[in-house]
Amino acid sequence: MSGGCSSLKSGQEVVDHVKSKGKDQFAPKVEHKINCECGETFSFTKVIMNCPNCEMTYAVTPCSSGDINNIKTAGIKYAG
Ligand SMILES: [Zn+2]
Repeated sequence: MSGGCSSLKSGQEVVDHVKSKGKDQFAPKVEHKINCECGETFSFTKVIMNCPNCEMTYAVTPCSSGDINNIKTAGIKYAG
């Protein structure tokens, strides 16, 4: 682990934190493939993204975006 990243507990906290920093359009370090619980698979090209099928919001902080395990769900359309 690289350390130094703030560890946020929930997906909602991640979305709020990243948006407050104006980094919600940033690209993650690795373009992960998300296997959504709805069955959709999509490329994670921004640190905050909605599933194109069910619109579940996925979020990760840019500094921890190298590990897919750090990507959290925040709820349907949480990021708007
Ligand atoms: Zn989905």
